Amino acid sequence: IVAREWHKENSVIDIKGIPLGGNTIQVIGGPCSVETRQQMDAAARFVKAAGCRLMRGGAFKPRTSPYSFQGKGVEGLEMFRRAADAQGLPIVTELMDVRMLDTFLEWNVDVIQIGTRNMQNFDLLKEVGRTNKPVILKRGMSATVSEWLMAAEYIAAGGNHNIIFCERGVRSFETYYRNMLDVTAIPVLKKETHLPVIVDPSHAGGKAWMVPALSRAAIAAGADGLLVEMHPKPCEAWCDADQALNPDELKNLMVELKGIAQVL
Ligand code: PEP
Ligand code: MN
Repeated sequence: IVAREWHKENSVIDIKGIPLGGNTIQVIGGPCSVETRQQMDAAARFVKAAGCRLMRGGAFKPRTSPYSFQGKGVEGLEMFRRAADAQGLPIVTELMDVRMLDTFLEWNVDVIQIGTRNMQNFDLLKEVGRTNKPVILKRGMSATVSEWLMAAEYIAAGGNHNIIFCERGVRSFETYYRNMLDVTAIPVLKKETHLPVIVDPSHAGGKAWMVPALSRAAIAAGADGLLVEMHPKPCEAWCDADQALNPDELKNLMVELKGIAQVL
């Protein structure tokens, strides 16, 4: 179902009236994690002011250490929903556990993010496949393109064709940066699937200063959008502080991208 052979034209995913895919570029901005009400209210205002039309933020965080901040959970969903609603921004947030799916639907999460660590959590994929919610499927950190396509197929097979691929860098030998952004995967995915492909430059570089260059590369290579971390005060972020843009940097990025493509 996800294959280009099956559907020749580019699919456009409708997110509360906002098109993802097709001839426009969407930039999804927001913090790594939902922290506090004030942080989310400020973040939503800055995301909106920068010109982004969708907001990200994790309430359930897949942390490497069980002793690290694990996210605000359901309370975080509520904080996110209220902050984003005040700015009219649809919300993108990660679902890690199939047992939280009903809660996500109750809070009207607009886009369900499946993180790199869950790309092949087939039971989770099957369950989101039974909903009609748009799903961002991040690439597993060592997943091949065909494994990634098949993971998407699990969602599509259940009837949900609202799938967005997200390249976020892969594991490599290099230690200078967090993950190696696989720019090659962008044209490959665009050839193999009719579904939109976005790029997360934040988790690829792992440093804020790398984000503009990786973003430009992604858009120039044909990506349909970006998923970018921005924090009102990056140095105070509870998670992924090094890679968060500040509000001005997000604004500048949006201006730069408009020079490359039509950014809505
Ligand atoms: C995230 O987007 O916050 C995240 C945890 O990303 P990934 O699953 O790509 O590591
Ligand atoms: Mn993060």
